[in-house]
Amino acid sequence: MKRRTQPGFGTLAIHAGQSPDPTTGAIMTPIFQTSTYVQEAPNKTKGYDYSRSGNPTRTALEGNLAALEGGSWGLGFSSGMAAITCVVNLLQQGDHVIAGNDLYGGTFRLLRTVYEKFGIATTFVDLTDLAELEAAFRPNTRLVMLETPTNPLLRCCDLAAIAKLCRRRHVMTLADNTFATPYLQRPLELGCDLVVHSTTKYLGGHSDVVGGILVGSDPELRPRLAHFQNSCGGTPGPMDCFLVLRGTKTLHVRMDRHCQSALAIAKWLSSHRKVARVYYPGLPSHPTHRTAKKQMKHGGGMVSVELKATVAAAKKFCSHLEVFALAESLGGVESLVDHPASMTHASIPKKERQRAGLADGLIRLSVGIEELDDQIADLDQALRRL
Ligand SMILES: *Cc1c(COP(=O)(O)O)cnc(C)c1O
Repeated sequence: MKRRTQPGFGTLAIHAGQSPDPTTGAIMTPIFQTSTYVQEAPNKTKGYDYSRSGNPTRTALEGNLAALEGGSWGLGFSSGMAAITCVVNLLQQGDHVIAGNDLYGGTFRLLRTVYEKFGIATTFVDLTDLAELEAAFRPNTRLVMLETPTNPLLRCCDLAAIAKLCRRRHVMTLADNTFATPYLQRPLELGCDLVVHSTTKYLGGHSDVVGGILVGSDPELRPRLAHFQNSCGGTPGPMDCFLVLRGTKTLHVRMDRHCQSALAIAKWLSSHRKVARVYYPGLPSHPTHRTAKKQMKHGGGMVSVELKATVAAAKKFCSHLEVFALAESLGGVESLVDHPASMTHASIPKKERQRAGLADGLIRLSVGIEELDDQIADLDQALRRL
């Protein structure tokens, strides 16, 4: 067998950041359910003094995700939003942010309703259009926040091209890699400065935990961000870190199935007479398919669909599904369906939603890893009732 110098993704997913417990040999990282650590003498510690500042289960998770993203360090948070907040805290009053115009509703809300009043303004642009990005730069622009694929239109923006434009201007890039996961795409390797995840989604993968992570390579950024992590305090508990660590062990296997089934469902929906439009980056019909092909291993596990139906009928369709549970969130082993206009994206004003092309009748599917035949039969019976 050929020896690799660098372990492959699946090997890193299972082992990176973790080693058997030295005192017992336990193969799994213990859940260090402790708030404090006994010191040998004042300020003489074994590396941990208080669990907001550091916890060994969290250290293992941070090391694991840093390896998966190809970064050199990770910082764990109690939610994806806490991780994003930490990055915005690097900015000063008067700084300017450019963000994608169909990004996660919570990120939009954070920038609009929390940071704007502190004098940090954000311009929302279509980041799949590099000219639009270039026109939005101001002398005080410090941060470009992007998601790819976006939520829920699954538009892919060119990570390498955006990173290059930002580097030239010394503007920091933060890529939200929640939808793609590092198995499909690694923004740091394409030149982005920071990667953020809601580990609540594919990394945890089992809909049993809320968490976030930041990963980067720049050694100077780590202490600045760790300062805000410790000062603001949105850190994860050890049990939550353990759950995400358990999730990442099967990330590569789950993602292959998510992607395979999502592609099959996207194709099946595309040929259905009651379907107006399917959004899936893995299909050539998607406007950003070429970018997806360039930077992603597969098309991902999310499919959005516009039905030939009224908004009321689209909502009813969601309720008639059985294998697909009607719920917010995504990325778990079970299939979910979401009506963005009334659920996940309701915090975005209707006018802004329309400007971003987010129709009120749009439905978002998080394709789980149940049997494909059962998933399609479920969609079929709900479409028949329309
Ligand atoms: C869910 C999500 C977030 C927010 O993460 P929480 O863990 O819910 O705080 C941010 N970005 C994307 C793309 C998400 O899907």
